[in-house]
Amino acid sequence: MMNVAIVGGGITGLSSAFHVYRLAQEKGQKVKITLLEATNRVGGKVQTEKREGFVIERGPDSFLKRKPEGLELVDLLGLSDQLIENQTGRSYILKDDALHPIPEGSVMGVPTRIRTLLQSDLLSMDGKVRVLNDFFIPKLPDFEDMSVGEFFKQRLGVEVVDHIISPLLSGIYAGDIYKLSLKIALPQFIEIEKKYGSLIKGLSQTTPKKKTSQFATLTGGLSDFIEALKKSLEHSGVDIQTGVSVAAIEKEANSYELLLSTGQRLAADQVILAVPHRVTEKLLTQASYLHREDAAPDTSVATIAMVFNQDDVRMDKEGTGFVVSRLEDKAITASTWTHMKWGHAAPKGKAIIRCYVGKAGDDDIINQSDETLTKIALDNLSGIVSIKADPDFAIVSRWPLAMPQYPVGHSKWLEDVRAKLAVDYPHVYLAGASYDGVGLPDCIKQAKQLAEQIIQ
Ligand SMILES: Cc1cc2nc3c(=O)[nH]c(=O)nc-3n(C[C@H](O)[C@H](O)[C@H](O)COP(=O)(O)OP(=O)(O)OC[C@H]3O[C@@H](n4cnc5c(N)ncnc54)[C@H](O)[C@@H]3O)c2cc1C
Repeated sequence: MMNVAIVGGGITGLSSAFHVYRLAQEKGQKVKITLLEATNRVGGKVQTEKREGFVIERGPDSFLKRKPEGLELVDLLGLSDQLIENQTGRSYILKDDALHPIPEGSVMGVPTRIRTLLQSDLLSMDGKVRVLNDFFIPKLPDFEDMSVGEFFKQRLGVEVVDHIISPLLSGIYAGDIYKLSLKIALPQFIEIEKKYGSLIKGLSQTTPKKKTSQFATLTGGLSDFIEALKKSLEHSGVDIQTGVSVAAIEKEANSYELLLSTGQRLAADQVILAVPHRVTEKLLTQASYLHREDAAPDTSVATIAMVFNQDDVRMDKEGTGFVVSRLEDKAITASTWTHMKWGHAAPKGKAIIRCYVGKAGDDDIINQSDETLTKIALDNLSGIVSIKADPDFAIVSRWPLAMPQYPVGHSKWLEDVRAKLAVDYPHVYLAGASYDGVGLPDCIKQAKQLAEQIIQ
């Protein structure tokens, strides 16, 4: 019987347990799985607050549909009938204190329709001409990796990076896109540039013309997904231990001993570390190469979800929310009008406005009190959303050091690290948001691939 220990009970750890068990069953292998989670609940950053008919996400709110592994797991758990897609309203960029529509047809801020680009007041005429130069600039010389900011600056110019691409990406990374690895964050753009030369040409040929919903979640919130995953694991005999953190990992001749915060020891043949990289570094003390000087620290973010009577709020524009231009003097980085984006999130007649704070260089802000953060959010919204009454209630969620910052060259570094670990710590594996992508489907994909590697 193979003993698998999984450290960390976020989406990566839980889906690792699910796929290891599923594949072992398929191959007729016997496996004992123990999942250790430091806090008293599983789910990690996935956390839903259900109150008075509201479904409010404290962390992630949905799966990106384009990446199949999230919805595939929803299906395997038998939850497909509970899926709901986002409403495809307009979204905006806040620039010079006004909301400007994101040019229709843009992909990650890269325009695909010349007419909507020319009509947009987000860019100056020079900025628009510079974007259109993309048709004429030769392909960039072959490169292994570069920063997202540098890549788009070279193809499309700095204005579109500052006012469209950077704010759209800040919701995912909350970092400096001039330090963020293109290869890990947006690898598809490297392929498009290689194949078509022009990004606009490539995207306009490969992007569906009709606007469709891009995201999906469950009507009861993402915690229902976590609950179903947990139940399925318990049913399969996976030993889930919450309130137990792993303090150290000792290497034995052909296995490992995990030292637990309870004082107990756990033996394992295979260990999946589904924790943030800074935790991994502390656990694998003989692997000094895990430490990176070139990586910016993970950034901290907070969300402030405020609930109102719908009659008391009036949006300046119809839509589902906005992101804030890189050069705008605001503390919030984005605002989602959740009741407009998701049909299930608020009871009839109620509105939820969710604001985000925290970015590279300004993430201390999350240490402010709930009252201060709510006031900052309301102040930042004034002039954009007219609000007549105080929120019925507000839910502030802090996520310290939650957003990994992948530096340029991350994939190469990770490949080297994995090769060295295979020698120094055979059968110890790294997975999760610190490594191969931050989105929920990325985490699930890593878990699935790892399970395939372990259950051969
Ligand atoms: C505000 C916010 C909004 C987001 N929105 C989206 C979205 O809409 N869609 C999307 O796809 N992604 C979104 N993300 C990203 C996504 O939520 C995360 O990348 C993902 O949940 C990370 O999962 P994980 O399992 O790798 O890590 P985590 O969820 O961080 O789980 C790691 C777990 O390890 C545990 N742990 C740590 N140390 C130890 C130890 N020593 N022993 C045992 N356990 C330990 C922790 O307690 C934690 O539970 C968002 C993230 C944030 C913060």
